[in-house]
Amino acid sequence: MQDSFKHKGMRIKLIEQIREKGIVDEQVLQAIEKLPRHFFLESAFLEHAYQDKAFSIGEGQTISQPSTVAFQTELLNLTEGEKVLEIGTGSGYQACILLELGAKLTTIEINKTLFEKSKKMIADLGYKRCRNILGDGSQGYPTIAPYDKILVTAGSPKIPKNLVEQLKTGGIMVIPVGDRFSQEMLRITKTADKGEVEIETFDNFRFVPLIGKFGWQDQNL
Ligand code: SAM
Repeated sequence: MQDSFKHKGMRIKLIEQIREKGIVDEQVLQAIEKLPRHFFLESAFLEHAYQDKAFSIGEGQTISQPSTVAFQTELLNLTEGEKVLEIGTGSGYQACILLELGAKLTTIEINKTLFEKSKKMIADLGYKRCRNILGDGSQGYPTIAPYDKILVTAGSPKIPKNLVEQLKTGGIMVIPVGDRFSQEMLRITKTADKGEVEIETFDNFRFVPLIGKFGWQDQNL
């Protein structure tokens, strides 16, 4: 797939729309401007790649809306070299934005087809600091915990306690929490080792469900 001047122009227009929605972090905007989102969609749907909307990636899943990717990333307050866990790799687009910002990333996907496809895409784009895991991310990835940052890109019915445990003290988790139809974006800062947290709430979104042991357990949602 090629990244043409036309695509770059479309990304610049997309960035303007994202700015209008209140995103101010220039590094996040630059990462979105740099990364060809059309690589992550089936080629028949290229014209949808630079509209600010979520889109199907097959397997009943979606690539998140670009302004939502920007919003979640901005809330993370990422600095170069931080150890980040993403739950819900999906297409791999959000993962690449995090990698572009210098994250040392572990990303978990529960769907095997999406896991294989996104792993290949991230490697093909040349990102080296990414560990792709196939599994239930609602349980986190304790093997290499704790993390500076955790980003959940599927809607959770509650704050998974085990994910808070896998955060460093001072670490931040961004997670949409709510029912199946609407979730509030939460930014959770772990303030003490005993698991004390500070919770900030933001706008409502609609994500596909976080399934698995500490998410929605019924996989037929
Ligand atoms: N970040 C993705 C991107 O940039 O394309 C979009 C994520 S999509 C909205 C949510 C993803 O979470 C889906 O691919 C879904 O299969 C995955 N998912 C749902 N529950 C999961 C779980 N328990 N562990 C890992 N992945 C999960």
